[in-house]
Amino acid sequence: MKYKRILLKLSGEALMGNQQFGIDPHRLEQYAQEVKRVKELGVELAIVIGGGNIYRGIQAERTGIDRVQGDYMGMLATVINAMALQSILEKHGIYTRLMSGFKIEQVCEPFIRRRAVRHLEKGRVVIFGAGIGNPYFTTDSTASLRAIEIEADVVLKGTRVDGVYTADPEKDPTAERYSNISFQEVFEKGLSVMDMTAITLCQENNLPIIVFDMNKPGNLYNLVVGEDVGTLITAKK
Ligand code: UDP
Repeated sequence: MKYKRILLKLSGEALMGNQQFGIDPHRLEQYAQEVKRVKELGVELAIVIGGGNIYRGIQAERTGIDRVQGDYMGMLATVINAMALQSILEKHGIYTRLMSGFKIEQVCEPFIRRRAVRHLEKGRVVIFGAGIGNPYFTTDSTASLRAIEIEADVVLKGTRVDGVYTADPEKDPTAERYSNISFQEVFEKGLSVMDMTAITLCQENNLPIIVFDMNKPGNLYNLVVGEDVGTLITAKK
């Protein structure tokens, strides 16, 4: 096994599956299966989940809602997804803890770094809900920050595409996938991987990112055991 402690970033949008909104139960079930397989390897796993399938702060301004208020609404959306994920993981016999970036005491523990690390050491999957708890951030930035804090070996950014491409593969058929690329190149070429804050945090703290297709069954497992899956982003190529 290549990685001992990983931080997996799942987007809220991916949870929609083919729906227009909300949580697709089949997708949730698939994610639980993937997580179970890597847990069985003995990997320590933390998960940050987004909320784009329910609400994004950026939508707020269009509807007359204050941006900061909208961001908190977005953070609450991530808690809904996190609770769904927690429930399905527990159904599969996986021990979990849900930690929140702001206080929602009845359903989440507050995020306390040392405690999060302790949960991981005890083999629990730690889910981070409510982002970092501050407006004007995203769950991608949350993933980078929490990964650094818990000293994860890598950030695994699960998306719908199998890595970083020279152009958007859904629009440009000539787009090619990078097997590995440096942070510097990501900036220079303006490639959309994660938001800039998220990438900068990883670059400054020398934390590799792997962008991969989370929807392909077995991909997460293959990646963790060291197969060449997705695109690896590191300080040097
Ligand atoms: N958000 C925030 N601070 C955070 C994390 C999230 O304000 O630390 C808000 C922000 O409005 C964002 C929304 O929560 O749009 C949902 O998260 P995100 O868009 O990252 O979800 P994803 O794109 O992964 O589904």
